[in-house]
Amino acid sequence: MKCPFCGSTESRVIDSRDTEAGDAVRRRRECECGRRFTTYERIDEMPLLVVKRDGHEEVFSRRKLLNGLLRACEKREIPLERLEALVARMETQLRTAGVQRVASAEIGERALRLLRSLDKVAYVRFASVYRQFEDVEEFQDELRRLEAHVPVLDGQEPIAALGEMQGAEALAAAAPAAARTRR
Ligand SMILES: [Zn+2]
Repeated sequence: MKCPFCGSTESRVIDSRDTEAGDAVRRRRECECGRRFTTYERIDEMPLLVVKRDGHEEVFSRRKLLNGLLRACEKREIPLERLEALVARMETQLRTAGVQRVASAEIGERALRLLRSLDKVAYVRFASVYRQFEDVEEFQDELRRLEAHVPVLDGQEPIAALGEMQGAEALAAAAPAAARTRR
């Protein structure tokens, strides 16, 4: 901890106690230059926990979600900033909802809702991972549902991903990712 007067990092704690509210530790420090200053230690932001299908929990990772989206958006020319914004938006939604634990499936569904307005192919690829389509038929059903209903979220312009692409072409464009996820 740098001394605010001389910049030295050589200080010693001369007093340490909880604040009145009990939400922090207040430390009085004395620098080698002889002057004194105060520091506070507080709990960092509460971690957001993701509950996986098998029940085990892990800390929500922006990086991990972003990687999943990047895979789904491969060759779709969606700016990285759009995806980063999507991830940040989702984290904010969860945090402002006061959620501390969230199912991984719920994260998948939320990501899908946001992705749907961005790029149909990426949406279907991502859905194929999260919903674990059993077969091509189920996959095509999802595409049909998608074509029937394309909402625009929060006034955002959807990127005209498929343009006039028909179902079969869309399927062909999205299928490789889906095929990779099938084991
Ligand atoms: Zn000093």
